[in-house]
Amino acid sequence: MTSPHPIVAVYPGSFDPMTLGHEDIVRRTLRFCDRLVIAVAHSATHQKRFLFTVEERIEIISEVFGDTPRVECVGFSGLLVEFARSVGARFIIRGLRAVSDFEYEFQMAQMNRELWEDQETLFLTPDVDYAFLSASLVREVASLGGDVSRFVSPTVLARLEHRFDS
Ligand code: ADP
Repeated sequence: MTSPHPIVAVYPGSFDPMTLGHEDIVRRTLRFCDRLVIAVAHSATHQKRFLFTVEERIEIISEVFGDTPRVECVGFSGLLVEFARSVGARFIIRGLRAVSDFEYEFQMAQMNRELWEDQETLFLTPDVDYAFLSASLVREVASLGGDVSRFVSPTVLARLEHRFDS
C-alpha cells in the first residue's frame, strides 16, 4: 500500500514467547494496517518472571516475521500511549480470547483513551483453534516436557527446547 497517510498500529504484550495465537492476530491486523509495530513489554509496573529476556523475545519475533517487512518489533517500557505516539501509531491492537480477557482489556482501553483521546484500541479475535491458547500455558507445558508444536512456530519451538534442555 502506498497511502500518503499510512495506517500504523502497535501490538503490545509480553510475548513470552510468541504463540500462534499472537501470530494470528498479527496477520489479521496486516489486512487493514500498513505497518505494525510489535511492542515487547519490559513490564515496568509488575515484576513478572519471564522465560525469555526482552532481547530474546524481540529476536524470536523478528525471526518469525523476518519475511514480512511491514512488521517490526521493538522493546518498550513506560506508558503505552506515549510509546504509540512516538512511533506515529494511533491504533492499539489487542487480542480477545475467552470472556476472561474482557474486563481487564476494557479497563485498559478506557484508561488509554483518557490518556490520549485520539488513539483507538482495536480488539481482534483469533481463529477458534487459538481461542484458549496463552503464552503462560505454553511455557508451563513446555517446561514439563509436553509437546507444544501445535501452538508455536518452529523457531519458537526450537528456542523452548533449547531452554528446557539446558
Ligand atoms: P499472554 O496473555 O498470552 O501472556 P501477552 O501479554 O503476550 O499474552 O498478550 C498480548 C496480547 O495478545 C493481548 O492482547 C492478549 O490478549 C493477546 N493474546 C494472547 N494470546 C492470544 C491468543 N491465543 N489469541 C488471541 N490473542 C491473544
